[in-house]
Amino acid sequence: MSRPIAPTHTPVLPRRVPPVTGEALLSYLTRLAAANHLTIGEVLAVLPTWFTTKTNNPDERAQHHMLAPATTDALHALARLTSTTPAGLARALPAFGTTDTHGPVRATTACHRCTARRGILQPVPVHLPAHHKICTRHGIWLSDTSQAHLDLAACPEIITAQHRANRLLRRHTPQQLLLTYQAAAKSIPPWPTSPAAIPLHWRHRLLTLQTANHRYGTPTDHDAYIHAAIYPDAITLAAAELNPHPAGPE
Ligand SMILES: [Zn+2]
Repeated sequence: MSRPIAPTHTPVLPRRVPPVTGEALLSYLTRLAAANHLTIGEVLAVLPTWFTTKTNNPDERAQHHMLAPATTDALHALARLTSTTPAGLARALPAFGTTDTHGPVRATTACHRCTARRGILQPVPVHLPAHHKICTRHGIWLSDTSQAHLDLAACPEIITAQHRANRLLRRHTPQQLLLTYQAAAKSIPPWPTSPAAIPLHWRHRLLTLQTANHRYGTPTDHDAYIHAAIYPDAITLAAAELNPHPAGPE
């Protein structure tokens, strides 16, 4: 690591574009280029080749040993180009390998209400920690990539369950939480045991979600509905498994 940092000749773009948390590098560079009336090729041309290699890699989060030594220089070049701080970029963009996405992650798009507030109208691909299912600020279920997000306003207990899952992380690792949650979700009965049990069963919640999201034109048949409907039950079971004898509020 004794290599001196080469003097940088990176230009500075006139328009600043803050990254979205977890944003894919190619998405960020594309938005950066568009805001400055440039092509993505023109932006890549003034950055170290690290960026071209990264954006061509299907898994930009992989930290290849050949690329790792150049990562710090790349980060500083991008910070200079965008008039932002290396720390802020490193925190937001998983491509630099320093975000909190070292645990299990999943690909989704950022909450559209969060991005709309910042004037971003297109979907923003992101990698989020796998346990992060919901934008709790806006009550949006962040479905996996290619599936529509769901409005959870009609089922506030799903949002409450995300807060509960976050609290479980104070004493358990993301891996522990994810494995326990996945096992719990599989163990939940697919149908109510009797007609009297229907109002308490997750299928009742499923119907509420489908009805509420129908007005956005969201198809009612994708898996995200089931994952969201089952989520409070799965987190309750996971919490009981992880904290069999809770000493107080978890
Ligand atoms: Zn949001």
